[in-house]
Amino acid sequence: MATDPLLSLRGVSKDFGGGVFGLKDIDLDIASGEFVSLLGPSGCGKTTTLRVIAGFETPTSGQVLLNGREIGHLPANRRPVNTVFQDYAVFPHMNVAENVGFGLSVRGTARAEIARKVAEALDLVGLGDKAERPVSALSGGQRQRVALARAIVCEPQVLLLDEPLSALDASLREQMQIELKSLQHRLGTTFILVTHDQTEALSISDRIVVMNGGRIEQIATPDELYDRPATRFVAGFIGTMNLLPGRVTGDGRVEGSGFALPVEGAGSLATGTAVTLGLRPEDLTFAPAGSGAPLRVETTVFHGHSLRVIGRLNDGAEVVLDVRRSHAAELPADGATAALALRPGASAILLPA
Ligand code: ATP
Repeated sequence: MATDPLLSLRGVSKDFGGGVFGLKDIDLDIASGEFVSLLGPSGCGKTTTLRVIAGFETPTSGQVLLNGREIGHLPANRRPVNTVFQDYAVFPHMNVAENVGFGLSVRGTARAEIARKVAEALDLVGLGDKAERPVSALSGGQRQRVALARAIVCEPQVLLLDEPLSALDASLREQMQIELKSLQHRLGTTFILVTHDQTEALSISDRIVVMNGGRIEQIATPDELYDRPATRFVAGFIGTMNLLPGRVTGDGRVEGSGFALPVEGAGSLATGTAVTLGLRPEDLTFAPAGSGAPLRVETTVFHGHSLRVIGRLNDGAEVVLDVRRSHAAELPADGATAALALRPGASAILLPA
């Protein structure tokens, strides 16, 4: 990270007792103005990480630093951090403006100042004309915008978002993802989002922290995660990836069932090392008969802009490849055996066995 981090977790672990570790030795640096997502399957420790940052959870060991200073001793309400929760917790008996201004009035901010800040926050989330509405008259998406406005009106240094869009339907959710990204851009505030939805994380984050079993598997930009997953878990979790067993040959290639491919990094491993090759469906194609790995085609399914072909190599490993719909006429029939090859210019990813 070029600049000093705004927020750092140093060796943070959380033992919930009875050997249940929510977090194991988390090291994480987040720069000011970054949009970072914590992504992973249920129970991997995303929410616990967020709660440790917010001050709702005390780590068993490790430190939380803001601007280089330990904030572990600060109670949640004294941290320059606000949280937006999944269930858009708004006060049902208050109108929109009262909901948004609540935190400021609790702090004793002057009324005129509250009115100005609330109007500004409501404009930012596109609810400028709904200030006097009772929240009970709002849709789910509008309520979530109220919750967002309520969090940003206090001008936190870090905004924590715990699955804030998961209660919304798919199309509204997509729209709100774009709004969230553009809001973060305009505010320049650091956003940390918890999500189990990889599409959401990939589309709105500057960097993604992939978690598994209370640990960090990889921290990277969406491009890096997709193109260079560091572990088998990340490779299998982000997008669709064929994971095929193989062995390193002496000439920097990896040999598997019917194929031998040059792979970056294979040259530095001992001949015979067992590895896994990661191959994206869009990086595979059919080759002239006899020139690639024999693949028995099982099914072909419609997949939006492409057709997804599912087949098996001679060793029984399943392979998925995507073929543009304009090439549909050239596809082998289900049940036929065809030759599988890597697309020119594409590369396989070397992963541990
Ligand atoms: P989800 O997507 O399901 O919310 P998550 O990735 O946010 O999952 P956490 O809620 O952080 O995961 O939980 C991590 C682990 O810690 C899980 O095994 C969970 O059961 C455990 N855990 C979390 N909170 C507590 C608690 N208060 N007491 C005991 N165990 C807990």
